[in-house]
Amino acid sequence: MGKEFFSYLKCRECGRQYPKKAVHVCEFDFGPLEADYNYEHIKHSISRSVIESRKQNMWRYRELLPIDGEPTVGLETGFTPLVKADRLAKALGIRELYVKNDAFNHPTLSFKDRVVSVALSRAKELGFKIVACASTGNLANSVAAHAAGAGLKSYVLIPADLEQSKVLNSLVYGTEVIGIHGAYDQVNRLCSEIAGKYGWGFVNVNLRPYYAEGSKTMGFEIAEQLGWKLPRHTVVPMASGSLLTKIAKSYQEAIKVGLIEEQPFTVHGAQATGCNPISAAFKAGTDLIRPVPKPKTIAKSLAIGTPADGYYAVHAVKSSGGSCEDVTDEEIIEGIRLLAETEGIFAETAGGVTVACAKKLIASGKIPAGESAVLCITGHGLKTAEAVAPHLPLPRLINPSLREFDALVANDTAVHAAAV
Ligand SMILES: *Cc1c(COP(=O)(O)O)cnc(C)c1O
Ligand SMILES: [Zn+2]
Repeated sequence: MGKEFFSYLKCRECGRQYPKKAVHVCEFDFGPLEADYNYEHIKHSISRSVIESRKQNMWRYRELLPIDGEPTVGLETGFTPLVKADRLAKALGIRELYVKNDAFNHPTLSFKDRVVSVALSRAKELGFKIVACASTGNLANSVAAHAAGAGLKSYVLIPADLEQSKVLNSLVYGTEVIGIHGAYDQVNRLCSEIAGKYGWGFVNVNLRPYYAEGSKTMGFEIAEQLGWKLPRHTVVPMASGSLLTKIAKSYQEAIKVGLIEEQPFTVHGAQATGCNPISAAFKAGTDLIRPVPKPKTIAKSLAIGTPADGYYAVHAVKSSGGSCEDVTDEEIIEGIRLLAETEGIFAETAGGVTVACAKKLIASGKIPAGESAVLCITGHGLKTAEAVAPHLPLPRLINPSLREFDALVANDTAVHAAAV
């Protein structure tokens, strides 16, 4: 056994080992490759107090991340707030509730800043000069920003009909933004062809084994922020299904390396009904994912019709005793507003999906009212403002006159109740 923490890549299907290069599928069975570690070595090298003494960013768990040297990208990413959400708990009818708020992630306000930090730190170790991605929006934002900060040239490929704010949030960094007339799956297929032909580092294609591991840091942080304990339930939005599988993996690893005691946990998956291939498979009692050819939902960041990790997500949910749910666009908007009005947190459409699915899971008893849960909020509401704008009232307009103001608030009951 060498001195390294990160040992090799390993096929999830047959277990064959691969060297730590820019490869992502097994040559024998096309199974996805995943990072593997020397857990015994890690167990003897880190402890709660070692981690607590480090800077508050996602790299405080670096022994469990797939790089060889020191991280070079995303040094301020992660360690987002875990908010105790008592008012939302009351509204949803559950004893104890937290919001893991990755809407507040550095630098691009989504959980994708975690995966890109790892992918680009590894891309630099592997010598890539050009990095790229296929994206439903947030990944493009994060690749563009992190690549700019790291001095790497980047190309981001997105469906042409994304939210304006997500397009702008890629363009501003001077990246090459390429809109494709087609759905995400077609963008992704094209990217596989480009990766093969041009040899660029595609964070979610040939660098995917590295990229995917970044999601674990969301789970490590939840455990640490709860005082080195796991929430009984975790509700996770699913696009490809990767984040959900990696949160489950992070909980298992935290136990394996002795950071937390062995304890039960349950993960639940959340999707939009307009693109619910994983949730539909789960509800049908199968792990066979039937692709959704034409996703139709305002939750565009989750609109992946052929989810690469769908099969593994179904298994992670099932083996933990969890469930999957999906919600309509109307329920998504209600979820966004409920989170904003009870906790003062503005989430993007994917956050509305998480809150609305949690509501259903609690109402149906799949998350028992007497237990605790964490909701993973993965992106900021300003990124998808146009989805929610039509559902909000307009500001009330008056001239700069006290008389007009008096008339305006004359019927606001709170004003009378608060009068001194
Ligand atoms: C990418 C993304 C997810 C989850 O993606 P996976 O592919 O399932 O890992 C969740 N929320 C938002 C906002 C995202 O951008
Ligand atoms: Zn294999």
